[in-house]
Amino acid sequence: KKYVYLFEEGRADMKNLLGGKGANLAEMTNIGLPVPPGMIITTEACKEFYVNDRRFPPGMEEQVREKMRVLEEKTGKRFGDPANPLLVSVRSGAPVSMPGMMDTVLNLGLNDETAEGLGRAADRRFAFDCYRRFLNMFGDVVLGIEHTKFERILERYKERRGVTLDQELPAEDLEQVVAEYRALIERETGRPFPQDPMEQLFMAIYAVFNSWNNDRAIVYRRINKIPDDLGTAVNIQVMVFGNLGDDCGTGVAFTRDPATGARELYGEYLINAQGEDVVAGIRTPRPISDLKEEMPDVYQQFASICERLEKHYRNMQDIEFTIERGKLYILQTRTGKRTAQAAVKIAVDMVHEGLISKEEAVMRVEPAQLDQLLHRRIDPRGSVKVIAKGLPASPGAASGKVVFDADEAEMLGNEGEKIILVRTETTPDDIHGIVAAQGVLTSRGGMTSHAAVVARGMGKPCVCGCEAIRIDYEAGEFRVNDLVVKKGDVISIDGSTGQVILGEVPLIDPELSPEFLELLQWADEIRTLGVRANADTPEDAAKARAFGAEGIGLTRTEHMFMAPDRLPIVQEMILATTTQERQVALDKLLPMQQGDFYGILKAMEGLPVTIRLLDPPLHEFLPNAEELAVEITRLRLTGGDEEELRKKEELLKKVRVLAEFNPMLGHRGCRLGITFPEVYAMQARAIFQATAQLVKEGVKVFPEVEIPLVGEVRELALLRQLVDEVAEQVMKETGVEFEYSVGTMIEIPRAALLADEIAREADFFSFGTNDLTQTTFGFSRDDAEGKFLHEYVEKKILPENPFIVLDQAGVGKLMKMCVALGRQTKPDLIIGICGEHGGEPSSIEFCHRIGLNYVSCSPFRVPIARLAAAQARV
Ligand code: PEP
Ligand code: MG
Repeated sequence: KKYVYLFEEGRADMKNLLGGKGANLAEMTNIGLPVPPGMIITTEACKEFYVNDRRFPPGMEEQVREKMRVLEEKTGKRFGDPANPLLVSVRSGAPVSMPGMMDTVLNLGLNDETAEGLGRAADRRFAFDCYRRFLNMFGDVVLGIEHTKFERILERYKERRGVTLDQELPAEDLEQVVAEYRALIERETGRPFPQDPMEQLFMAIYAVFNSWNNDRAIVYRRINKIPDDLGTAVNIQVMVFGNLGDDCGTGVAFTRDPATGARELYGEYLINAQGEDVVAGIRTPRPISDLKEEMPDVYQQFASICERLEKHYRNMQDIEFTIERGKLYILQTRTGKRTAQAAVKIAVDMVHEGLISKEEAVMRVEPAQLDQLLHRRIDPRGSVKVIAKGLPASPGAASGKVVFDADEAEMLGNEGEKIILVRTETTPDDIHGIVAAQGVLTSRGGMTSHAAVVARGMGKPCVCGCEAIRIDYEAGEFRVNDLVVKKGDVISIDGSTGQVILGEVPLIDPELSPEFLELLQWADEIRTLGVRANADTPEDAAKARAFGAEGIGLTRTEHMFMAPDRLPIVQEMILATTTQERQVALDKLLPMQQGDFYGILKAMEGLPVTIRLLDPPLHEFLPNAEELAVEITRLRLTGGDEEELRKKEELLKKVRVLAEFNPMLGHRGCRLGITFPEVYAMQARAIFQATAQLVKEGVKVFPEVEIPLVGEVRELALLRQLVDEVAEQVMKETGVEFEYSVGTMIEIPRAALLADEIAREADFFSFGTNDLTQTTFGFSRDDAEGKFLHEYVEKKILPENPFIVLDQAGVGKLMKMCVALGRQTKPDLIIGICGEHGGEPSSIEFCHRIGLNYVSCSPFRVPIARLAAAQARV
């Protein structure tokens, strides 16, 4: 079996076998770009490695040796030859990009002899600089010795010389560093450092395979939903050196600005440095535009390669390069990660440039990522105290308490604290802290440093390379000039401007860019699924409409009952012992509700508005029994007002009577309408009076009255009759004819199972998938998430939290059945969804597939839904 490919044997579309990095190296080799030669060990070999109890598959080693001979021929150097040694890099490369998550070893092939030889052939200082880097990386990645132990030795030499940069150390010092590193390795592993290059190579390959299952790779895959069984390829490539002097360098660049999407080369480089120096964020690199002056020829060549790669891949690229003695080499290209803002702009620009189609543009933007654009930013009108400025690495603004440690960030984040993780730089080991934080601030590193890349990927604000802040981990503080900011103090960061601000700041809502609007317009041309919003107030309805909602899919009328001026009246209504008493309260509520509906219907002029009649259990509107009991006891003990005491005791009695063991399965939804028809009648009247009023004013409105929690057709039949009667009365009273419809939520499995019967009485269905998920799984929607559901997901019993991502297998099966049965009775039955899933991209795709007419979600998710609905169609 073929386990090893030379670069020229591969292609870009072989990502699964060769990994992303390898496949692109192969592609670039074949289109004639200056790529140092190399080979790729397949992901297949990695998978077999795990099947074989972590042993290399038979034949793989021989193939590696054979290909090494090819590399020797190509370069005219020999692996392990003291006179002219061949050195290679060994890097992982999974089919899906996992930046910084796995391991890299550079300069492999060096040993005491080849280092001397390299010193003679090139330069002694350079040779020992490479050797010490190699010992460090090999020690860390392959032998598992902590990086800091190497770092400490190096620091000691720098201190002794009174210098701050590695390159300021002379050759003699580096030789001694190398000796100490070797001694460290022998001490830590009980074995001398392996001098045989072939042995080094196989140990490194072993380590890369192994790194597929190290902790941070596993966490990264879990967060990014990457399957665990893809395996990683191993890239072995001839080294080129960016650290041979001042005509050398290394860098990373994006073909367009990954933060804004602007069409200009965007990147950084370091002179006289090796690859990892740029990404690791140890030295702060210089902007790529400086290279134009410093090495104009190289810059021109690089710029034209970038353009070529972008045209070839028809996408923005993230390119690694090295300059060795004035000659440019390309070491990697991949699709560049970008902010949502950049993703939108690049997709739209590329359509205008004729590179991609509108459909492709719509597919290029991750709907969930749009969330970032709908993010808040600092109110420019407010006055803020800017204490420092760093690089604007990932847009959006955030405030939180300063935390210096990733573990602590995770802990506090889980407790619901808002925090800003502050580090000199971050490494992949800090990833859990970044996940838990509101934003990240670093004092070192550029726009492509780890912190920047990871934060952009997660859509979190990040300011990096903020050199004005000096962090003292031990003291738990950072200083800016004379100002001391301690752990726990609140700061704000603005990842769009790079500002660091003391204290919390006022944030404002975002505006949509012209490109964003254009992309959404294309999405609207493509999609067939409607998008509505869930909104309970005229303001929310107007916002939803501005975001492109084509109607209201759910108005929860109970939210209107919660207002402080209404709650006492609602309580009066609930606590009434006779129908007359209740009617008094209802008469007070009627004009209020009518006003609510008037506002919403008017805001949605010309569009349908689904208004759901009262749904939740009544005790949600009443005071808590325990608190009430405490108050009563206090009144008794202090001899308080007799009258008040009597009232409270009465109230407690009623609250106790209304209490239920399982309120979610109790006296709620249409069951309220059945037992207290006057409540639903009042609501229907409020809707229709508002409708009549608007029709009179010449406003076109389409109210859809919705009955919740139906499980049996007779429930709906009875309540529909009530609603129809009220409508008829209102038409008679007002002399206005108006259109309306009556339908039901589908949120009880029985309703889905008997949808053919229920459809007889319904003009429309709307899936309440929050309750439908609750009732199908038998999981309490209020308790499951905190109590056990996270473990279900961690243990992979369920792929996702079904209250967030629709359970297509179970709940989805009921939905599909319901759609078929409902349309069997009424072929044109309008069916939508208004549970939380209506704004979740994978669920939206499912809704499109099973033939729903629309999804409905919260206003700020409407743009996400429009895009996701278009993607479902493409
Ligand atoms: C639902 O159950 O999915 C729904 C939309 O209604 P609510 O969340 O108000 O119960
Ligand atoms: Mg519900």
